[in-house]
Amino acid sequence: MNSLDKNIQFVKGIGPKKATKLNKLNIFTIKDLLYYFPRSYEDRSNIKKIWQLEHDEKACTKGIISEVKSYEAKNKIKVTKFTLRDETGFLNVVFFNQDYLTKVFKKGDSVIVYGKIKREGGFLEMNSPQIEHFTNAQTSTGKLIPIYPLTYGVTNKDIINTIKNIYTNEKVSIQEYLPKDIINKYKLCSIDFAVKNLHMPQDKQSLKIALYRMIFEEFLILQIGLFYFKSGIDNSEGIKFEKKEKLNDIIKSLPFNLTNAQSRALNEVIDDMVSENMMNRLVQGDVGSGKTIVAVLVLALSVLNGYQGALMAPTEILARQHYESLTQTLAPFDINIDLLVGSLTKKQKEKVLEKIKNHETDILIGTHALIEDNVEFDNLGVVVTDEQHRFGVRQRAKLSTKGNNPDILVMTATPIPRTLALILYGDLDISIIDELPPGRQPIDTRAFESKKRDFIYSNFVRDEIEKGRQVYIVCPLVEESEAIEAKAAEDLRDELKEKYFSDLNVEVLHGKMKPSLKDKIMEDFKNNKIQILVSTTVIEVGVNVPNATLMIIENAERFGLAQLHQLRGRVGRGSHKSHCILIYSSKTNVCKERMEIMEETNDGFKISEKDLEIRGPGEFFGTRQHGIPELKVGNIFKHIKILKLAQEESKFILKQDRNLEKSEHILLKQEIVEKFSSINKEISLN
Ligand code: ADP
Ligand code: MG
Repeated sequence: MNSLDKNIQFVKGIGPKKATKLNKLNIFTIKDLLYYFPRSYEDRSNIKKIWQLEHDEKACTKGIISEVKSYEAKNKIKVTKFTLRDETGFLNVVFFNQDYLTKVFKKGDSVIVYGKIKREGGFLEMNSPQIEHFTNAQTSTGKLIPIYPLTYGVTNKDIINTIKNIYTNEKVSIQEYLPKDIINKYKLCSIDFAVKNLHMPQDKQSLKIALYRMIFEEFLILQIGLFYFKSGIDNSEGIKFEKKEKLNDIIKSLPFNLTNAQSRALNEVIDDMVSENMMNRLVQGDVGSGKTIVAVLVLALSVLNGYQGALMAPTEILARQHYESLTQTLAPFDINIDLLVGSLTKKQKEKVLEKIKNHETDILIGTHALIEDNVEFDNLGVVVTDEQHRFGVRQRAKLSTKGNNPDILVMTATPIPRTLALILYGDLDISIIDELPPGRQPIDTRAFESKKRDFIYSNFVRDEIEKGRQVYIVCPLVEESEAIEAKAAEDLRDELKEKYFSDLNVEVLHGKMKPSLKDKIMEDFKNNKIQILVSTTVIEVGVNVPNATLMIIENAERFGLAQLHQLRGRVGRGSHKSHCILIYSSKTNVCKERMEIMEETNDGFKISEKDLEIRGPGEFFGTRQHGIPELKVGNIFKHIKILKLAQEESKFILKQDRNLEKSEHILLKQEIVEKFSSINKEISLN
């Protein structure tokens, strides 16, 4: 008999008391516990000698306690310090406010510890690691130890032992609910293997296989559920474009070869365009990955088919930059491009509007001005929104009403809540550009406390200028008002010019300036007539000046991580090594942690994920509120490729079997309904 439904209280080692505590974690049956997955794993398969430990790594080591110290630090914190010794060296293991540990661990005890290593002035230290007595059982089987999300009164060991007992004493076999075809197609392991190995991984490989299956399953259930219960699949008929040989001529005329990722994204877009369905696609790619050219080619294909195209950008600077680069690329192919932005004179505007209406304009580029009522196209075929996260959903939708079901492409460098919601609601397909053009070097980022400011300006900045490069300096974010921010930028420029750079051309750029002046400054900066550009966040998106290789961000603690990453993306655009310096003046741990993340990684997806981790998912987007079941192992940032596969598969399944009535889908449907009904009262099992 299968004991999946057995009350957890009757499992060996549990009893009524522990059961009550597990109930608090929503664990009532064996099955509930089996689906209570670890949050992470500690790799204890590799026990290092003390001398092998490196600064900043998370590692496992063992030794004998040679000294125990306990004392109160200045701030009343009780510090407990064990010195571990092995034949290669010493390691200090430090705990705060846990002096009961001195009762558990004594001088002479053999212990195993797992934690992050700090090496400071010749001393090795581990703060608040996992610590356990070392037994011989551990020598024969070093392993991956699961770490569970817990509540008070249930220890990690409790769960580990209970799971062990279940697998030794109970008969647990979960019926497979994914269709055979899917298991085969995606080479997934069985549900039994997955669950068992999530809790008790045989080795890293098995864990990876198990995780992959569970993540895929979670996304599949989520996605089918969303399509099934909410929106259904959008099958609106769209324009059926044709592929054109001339597009290849344009590609050949580019000064570079497309990266594989660009080609892949482009092909996905073209496939959408030639199908009779309306395209609704998101191109996601880190800053600098080269999204613009994909947009250019998409717009060109629309024009080669006799339709018009529109490209909307969030700022005038960016719109102008796109205008220039599109003109450069497409003018030789007899494609007419126009710009529509707020700063045009009334007369200029009227002229552009006229040209759009009678199709003298093939491609229109602009800001929000594009969605104003007086803009009328002759036949709009494709609509592209750049840096989509800066726009509201409505604005994007409004642009598409200017045509008759035009294809829609949105581009973004930052996965943000709104975009995520869109992904989750499944109304967008996703293409990912996960590769930077060749020759790019990662941007070297370092954070400094503000007392180093003087050194930074007189050394780093000076050196960079002397090498012939240019520098951006971003001044602190002032949320209250653009006017105060503008003033701050001007003050900073004056200060820097006076103190450090009286011999250089230092200019300022902010949102309050006249567009024509902004243009002139950007133009001068591009041509290296300005060496240092002091700016507000108006340069956050899209701006491209490859010779600028150093970015200084003042009061970096005031910016969000994603925003810092966007800003930093303004450098590292050419082949010269680029740097970003973050100046901060906050001593909080959160600030430190955030600065460290920026120093550690150049990967925008990782940064969003960390941002989410620090801010907490509740603040980021409340899934429950949207009626979306909780993801236990899947992470919409980290596993976006799997999410995408699952999304495609969901559509495929629903296309064949809209109501999930086929025999191979019955069990899957049951799982989906169960997951969704637990958080949506209106959904019932029938
Ligand atoms: P983003 O994805 O941030 O919008 P851009 O489209 O502005 O990036 O591209 C950044 C820079 O990379 C531009 O100067 C562009 O010309 C260049 N670029 C784009 N694709 C390639 C490529 N395949 N090879 C070399 N350079 C490229
Ligand atoms: Mg861009």
